[in-house]
Parts: sequence; structure tokens; C-alpha cells
Amino acid sequence: MRDDLDRSISILQGERPGPLAGSGYPQDSADAGSALSETDRTEAILHSARSQRDEVLAALVRIEENTYGRCVDCSGDIPEGRLDARPDAARCVGCQAKRARRR
Ligand SMILES: [Zn+2]
Repeated sequence: MRDDLDRSISILQGERPGPLAGSGYPQDSADAGSALSETDRTEAILHSARSQRDEVLAALVRIEENTYGRCVDCSGDIPEGRLDARPDAARCVGCQAKRARRR
């Protein structure tokens, strides 16, 4: 899972135009506008891939510390069904919902 994410991240970073990309195009052209939103999209995907990788790395640390499968908030067991769906889940369903509401 981590390797997959690493691969996606490096591909996305490669797709991202460098500072010089787009030079030669007038700034106010329609092309510049669509290139910008494309960059924004790539940036958003890159951001979520990076944060997912962080989750996976944290899960790997928990496996090493033998706390994997335990909620980081309430120390309760995370149901196996949840770990099947989200192997990198750090919280039980209840704590995750509480956290999501707080945001
Ligand atoms: Zn919990």
C-alpha cells in the first residue's frame, strides 16, 4: 500500500508543471486558465495521496509497536471489518466520527 502511494505521488509530482511551464503563453489566455485548474486538481490529489501515505506509515509504526488494531483515542479494539475496509484506520468508528464532526 505504501509502495503504491509512493508511486502515485512521484507520478503526480512529475506531472506537475515546473515554474517555467506555460511560459510562452499569454497569462490571460484560456489555456493559462485551464492549465491552472489542472494544476489545482493535481495538487489536491497529491495532497490526499500524501496524507494517506502518512496514515499508512503511522499504521506501520503501530504494527511495530503492537498497538495496531487499537484505537489511538480510546484504546478500544478496532473491529476487524473496519480494518479490512481501511487497513490504515487509526480510530474506532465512534472516535473517527467524533473527530470528523470536530473538523
Ligand atoms: Zn475509539
